[in-house]
Amino acid sequence: MGEEKRLIYLDNAATTRTAPEVVEAMLPYFTELYGNPSSVYEFSQKSREAITGARETIAKSLGAKTEEIYFTAGGSESDNWAMKAAAEAYRGKGNHIITSKIEHHAVLHTGDWLEKQGFEVTYLDVDENGTIKLEELKKAIRPTTILISIMFANNEIGTIQPVKEIGEIAKEHGILFHTDAVQAFGQIPIHVDELHIDMLSSSAHKLNGPKGIGFLYIRRGVKIRSFVHGGAQERKRRAGTENVPGIVGYGAAVERAMRTMEERTAREKGLRDYLIDRVLREVPYTRLNGHRTNRLPNNANFSFQFIEGESLLIMLDMDGICGSSGSACTSGSLDPSHVLLAIGLPHEIAHGSLRLTLSEETTKEELDYVVDSIKKIVEKLRNMSPLYEDFMRRQ
Ligand SMILES: *Cc1c(COP(=O)(O)O)cnc(C)c1O
Repeated sequence: MGEEKRLIYLDNAATTRTAPEVVEAMLPYFTELYGNPSSVYEFSQKSREAITGARETIAKSLGAKTEEIYFTAGGSESDNWAMKAAAEAYRGKGNHIITSKIEHHAVLHTGDWLEKQGFEVTYLDVDENGTIKLEELKKAIRPTTILISIMFANNEIGTIQPVKEIGEIAKEHGILFHTDAVQAFGQIPIHVDELHIDMLSSSAHKLNGPKGIGFLYIRRGVKIRSFVHGGAQERKRRAGTENVPGIVGYGAAVERAMRTMEERTAREKGLRDYLIDRVLREVPYTRLNGHRTNRLPNNANFSFQFIEGESLLIMLDMDGICGSSGSACTSGSLDPSHVLLAIGLPHEIAHGSLRLTLSEETTKEELDYVVDSIKKIVEKLRNMSPLYEDFMRRQ
């Protein structure tokens, strides 16, 4: 007691710290510059200008046009909007949608909902690394296919998808391509034209911006319905007084993420690989989930045989370490992660999984502490496991 507990935050795929310079940029829009951007007086002009500035920064970062960026309340809303509104707008052409088994629940559950509305949804399998198979994608295409929604990079295992190839296939067949880039944006350079992306979802709080603000990129010419009906905000497609401080913070976060990307991700990759190598080398009966190299710079995901991920998380927490056993949305339920099952892990191995996601603040010294802690805890948990005892006896 008395001594401050150390905190090692390795759950940056769940959310990130809002960067101090982002908070700084937002503050005036709560206090002095609180005008409603839709009002006519000059005072409100500052709010309007701030929104335009953020929209320009974001558009530029993707090679998009400013009028193609629509602010939403986050990644989940953007995913819902892209899928539901495209499904509705293109219903005359067909009712078939293709997605994958490893999407975020914001896409998967929207797919389930669309099935209840009469759409047919194909959920593509992935290989053992979590990559979709392009041949399977091509085979799944029907004359009635109107939308392909495949995530850019996976939030649990970090695997990056062949987005350019997917975009080319979609374009060749005249099918819309939506990608959930919530994890990738800010970590991987993205150009919407080069990758043939028609719609793209992002969320500020995954890249050191504030929570509750996201955007959907919608390519000009894509027919898409309004998501929120009301005022004329966001080109009449998403009504409601704009979240001005959130939008300003998002713009600042994107500017910062683009400026620091190269150096930041190179450093994180080095630390990520150091962590992966040490864990695989020093903890027996352990595997890495996700693609070994083609993965997010900050993502490591392990399965430790003979242990329960939840027990591991609780004990890591006692050592001041924040990790995750899957996605934040899965924790609290006892089902193993749908992503780990999709890459072919048996239930009992999927249950013993741990995701650690680094930030630019992560240090090697912290990772050394984390590896030591994992080694100690895994050994302790295995020594209490009848399965492990059985296994060792048979060796
Ligand atoms: C976090 C996340 C979302 C949801 O974003 P919110 O802003 O929290 O709604 C969607 N997709 C992926 C891949 C994510 O990691």
